[in-house]
Amino acid sequence: MLQPPPTQARILIVGAGPTGLATAVSLIKHRIAVHDIVVVDSALSGQNSSRAVVIHAATLEALESIGCRTKLDATGIHMQGIRIQDGNGSPFLVNDFTSLHPCTKFPYACMISQAHTEIELNKELEALGGHVFRPLKAIGMKPVGNGLQVSFETGQTITAQYVIAADGARSVIRSVAGIGFLDPEGLEKDKSVDPRTSQMILADVSFDSSLDHVFPVDHYTGNFSICPDGLFLLAPLAHPKVQSTLYGASEPIYRIGFSVPLRKGEAPSQPGLEVLQEYVDGQGPPIISSDPSRNPTNKPVHLKKVYWSTRFRTHSAIADTFFKRIHGDTEQENGGIVMLVGDAAHIHSPMGGQGMNLGLRDAVGLGAVVAKHIQSLTGPDANTNSNLELLQGFAKERHGRASRQIAMTKRFAWFVGSLMNPWSIQYWVLYVMGKIPFFKKKLVWQLSGLGNR
Ligand SMILES: Cc1cc2nc3c(=O)[nH]c(=O)nc-3n(C[C@H](O)[C@H](O)[C@H](O)COP(=O)(O)OP(=O)(O)OC[C@H]3O[C@@H](n4cnc5c(N)ncnc54)[C@H](O)[C@@H]3O)c2cc1C
Repeated sequence: MLQPPPTQARILIVGAGPTGLATAVSLIKHRIAVHDIVVVDSALSGQNSSRAVVIHAATLEALESIGCRTKLDATGIHMQGIRIQDGNGSPFLVNDFTSLHPCTKFPYACMISQAHTEIELNKELEALGGHVFRPLKAIGMKPVGNGLQVSFETGQTITAQYVIAADGARSVIRSVAGIGFLDPEGLEKDKSVDPRTSQMILADVSFDSSLDHVFPVDHYTGNFSICPDGLFLLAPLAHPKVQSTLYGASEPIYRIGFSVPLRKGEAPSQPGLEVLQEYVDGQGPPIISSDPSRNPTNKPVHLKKVYWSTRFRTHSAIADTFFKRIHGDTEQENGGIVMLVGDAAHIHSPMGGQGMNLGLRDAVGLGAVVAKHIQSLTGPDANTNSNLELLQGFAKERHGRASRQIAMTKRFAWFVGSLMNPWSIQYWVLYVMGKIPFFKKKLVWQLSGLGNR
């Protein structure tokens, strides 16, 4: 029988996406008792979707520190590089993740669907005795005594000393805590990401012909094509020879992703085979073209099945602060502490697949620092007002990292956008830079997150 959620908790985590789950696991690994933590989510179990597909080296290191890397890493495909090429398939540059070898135990990008990542993190939480209460949608929050009382659509309430907002980009907790969420440069929503890549379609698909010659199982390299109409990403996501559990399929599954120019209007929210095929042929690499005269193999390749697809528009934003103390109305009421993590704290362009990665690293660190704060509260006078600098310092540091990440994704989007115009000076400058080993290594280093752990 399903247990009702408790009405009191020391720590309440609102949102059980990847960052809420990782925060919970990290807290427990840092010796916070399971019964002190309550995790809630508005969605029913199993409603998680594919979305983020890459876990970078720095995130694998963070997950390793809380015992969550091994299973994810064994399920995912190890991608050793990314080939960035023009519309005809000629490479601008080939990024080699193996060049990270001296700096990390994980010199690759682990390709795995976010749905899988969430399932594995949830399993880890349950193995530690934790549980997610669903569906519970937070709708309000107010200070009560020495804590914050979060209210839910069902009419239930939970009062906690620490409320962790892991409820995504449209965070209710952030909003009711009165924390702003804007582009760090103060740009308007529409101008906060490069318009050339602000509308994207992502899909998990299979093809009617084998692409094993493009992606040999022992050396996977992602394929990023840039042509005047936009960009196109093709990467292996699941291969029966590596694992076959994604969507229960027994055939290789690939992630395709592409930009849709705004001048073409709004793309369908869940594009089907026909729309996707049109973009594969228009913006994709020749090797998967359905036009045999364009395909270097002289054979047509068609999309066979769409397992998942979505259209989305992005913008950049960061919360004013990732920490807020919310006091009660009277001096006797301490109120409680709100900490923001993941998309509730920062969002940006998907260029480079950074969003979930930074969120997971935030989460692992947040679990450790909240545990440290709780463990520091000893002695007769100690209450959650003591040693706040621990939490404030962490929040400030993560805020700095998120700002740098947003700046990096903007630079990366500009870089990709410039390569769409072969007549621009930037195109040729970038073309030459792509041949310089230092520049190539720097790009890999930035993508891996190792410079912004
Ligand atoms: C289409 C798309 C593609 C993306 N691709 C990539 C990529 O390739 N690489 C990458 O790194 N990142 C990518 N991202 C970003 C990545 O998905 C997010 O950064 C990541 O999901 C953030 O995790 P989170 O746990 O902070 O938030 P979410 O994953 O948004 O999880 C929030 C959770 O909170 C719950 N919730 C929301 N509101 C409430 C409420 N009021 N009460 C209770 N629960 C609530 C939701 O049900 C959800 O489970 C992509 C995002 C999108 C939309």
